[in-house]
Amino acid sequence: MASITLENLAHSYHPNPGGDDDFALKAVNYTWEDGRAYALLGPSGCGKTTLLNIISGLLTPTHGRVLFADEDVTASSTAARNIAQVFQFPVVYDTMTVEQNLAFPLRNRRMEASYVAERVGRIAEMIGLQADLKKKARGLTSDLKQKISLGRGMVRDDVNAILFDEPLTVIDPHMKWELRTQLKSLHREFNHTMIYVTHDQTEALTFAEKVVVMHEGRVVQIGTPKELFETPAHSFVGYFIGSPGMNFVPVSVAGNKARLGDETIKLTHDYGNPNGDLKLGIRPEFISLTKGVGLPVRINRVQDVGRHKFINAALFDTEINIAVEEGFEIETDMTNVILDPDKVSIFCDDWRIDAQSAGKIDGGAT
Ligand code: ATP
Repeated sequence: MASITLENLAHSYHPNPGGDDDFALKAVNYTWEDGRAYALLGPSGCGKTTLLNIISGLLTPTHGRVLFADEDVTASSTAARNIAQVFQFPVVYDTMTVEQNLAFPLRNRRMEASYVAERVGRIAEMIGLQADLKKKARGLTSDLKQKISLGRGMVRDDVNAILFDEPLTVIDPHMKWELRTQLKSLHREFNHTMIYVTHDQTEALTFAEKVVVMHEGRVVQIGTPKELFETPAHSFVGYFIGSPGMNFVPVSVAGNKARLGDETIKLTHDYGNPNGDLKLGIRPEFISLTKGVGLPVRINRVQDVGRHKFINAALFDTEINIAVEEGFEIETDMTNVILDPDKVSIFCDDWRIDAQSAGKIDGGAT
């Protein structure tokens, strides 16, 4: 196993790239720590596969270097990088049994028979393939075939890293949860460095210790699920994480006050006089619907989603979502909202202003 360092890495598919717009992957510097579980999360076309292919050696970057531990592998082939990969669709040998498929990467490296048996048994147990070990892969469902691919990706204990490219796409929704949980326990047990590419926030947040969020070719934040939820570094992270995502309301800011229409919102920090496109960000979970105190809103509609209700309302000219408990009774005179002051963020030109570097002020309320 090894740490993986991306040093001034960038990639363009243009033969003669000019500005940033020509780069599918914009400059990134980062070290993926040895033995940790990461997710690479973002919508289609944001550059996830480009970055994964550079790490696996399928693509040579336009700029920068990839290091495995201290070794520069930028020019090394995929085989020389000693990694395991699991793709979106199952890659199995149909004529082999499940057991032979799982053992293949080990037998290929002439590992001892007793070690192969022990390792295959352990992996089969952890991903629930024991009952199928003697079956031929041909004729198995695509769920089971993808389980074999996952098992084969995990069976070697001497790989530098395991890369997963949207591995649960073909899996039945019911089994997705089970496999995610099993992958997590496999990580805890074997401590491989894992990078899991997905556009699905639930998969990313449940699997990974750290999530790398990409947007339009740029890594916009690397953080724990909690950090992404509570302190999104970029408005895209606020919007993409959470369902529904963070609310953004255009404001003007001076010191510890945000102005919204003719209302003033007291902030818990002094932001000085920031210049640019300013927005106040707050998640639906941190807004309370009230009577008579707070900012005026007009309720548009209510959506019941089981454990919660989401209230869609107009706050001046902006639509916001408010989350309330399932049993919450919405009364006709509830026409105001209070924003939890500790959960308010201010964004300037889409980037969150670090409240720690702004001075903390006692109190702060709406
Ligand atoms: P998806 O989830 O759809 O696979 P992604 O996040 O993995 O998307 P990439 O496949 O890395 O994104 O694509 C990033 C950008 O690079 C996109 O604009 C895409 O059109 C472009 N791109 C990808 N591969 C090539 C290529 N071989 N030649 C030219 N442009 C490419």
